[in-house]
Amino acid sequence: MPEPIPVLPEVLAQIRALPPSSRPLIICDVDEVILHMIAHLEEYLQENGMRFLNHTYRLTGNIARHDSDAPLPGDQVKTHLIKFFDEVSPHQTMVPEADTMLSALSEQWDIVLLTNLPGTHNKPARETLLGGLGIPYPVLTNSGPKGGAVAALSGGRSHPVVFIDDSPTNHRSVQASLPSAVQIQFIADQRFLRSVEPEAHIDLLTGDWRETCRFIEAIL
Ligand SMILES: [Mg+2]
Repeated sequence: MPEPIPVLPEVLAQIRALPPSSRPLIICDVDEVILHMIAHLEEYLQENGMRFLNHTYRLTGNIARHDSDAPLPGDQVKTHLIKFFDEVSPHQTMVPEADTMLSALSEQWDIVLLTNLPGTHNKPARETLLGGLGIPYPVLTNSGPKGGAVAALSGGRSHPVVFIDDSPTNHRSVQASLPSAVQIQFIADQRFLRSVEPEAHIDLLTGDWRETCRFIEAIL
């Protein structure tokens, strides 16, 4: 299990700009939770002569050229991911029912979207896309594991905090920094969802917004 990490100063500034509230809080990731990511990445890989080697939950070591079984080196994967993200992020499609289920939950819960973005220049495009899809909640941008940001967001609230994210790394980080958080691992892609071994700190493993909504409503 990783050590608790401090919140980054640029993330803390965004948290301090939120209106004060004592309502219960849902902290929700965007990629592969609210917006499809893996499906778009698979299209990008096909168009560029590449493919996933398998459906284990990692990217480095798991992407190869069509004519080879050798994984691409990490620096090449990184370069492709940045290019992919710049191309696709204005057009990502929504995971079914993310809009209506979040809207139902927002009657009793505050909702904050916490997303890792390469470069802050992508933030306005992301806010515009989400707003147009009927998902008008504050967007906070982070980089690296999310535990510090989640602990800082929960500061001063006595009610439950729910954390929704696809990434096992982010969930381990939140378990280290805010063990009281209710942790939902949400993976929209069914093949990658099925490949994940649930870890002890995960309270719900799902790829379904209706199930997520029912589970969160039962907390209060
Ligand atoms: Mg994600």
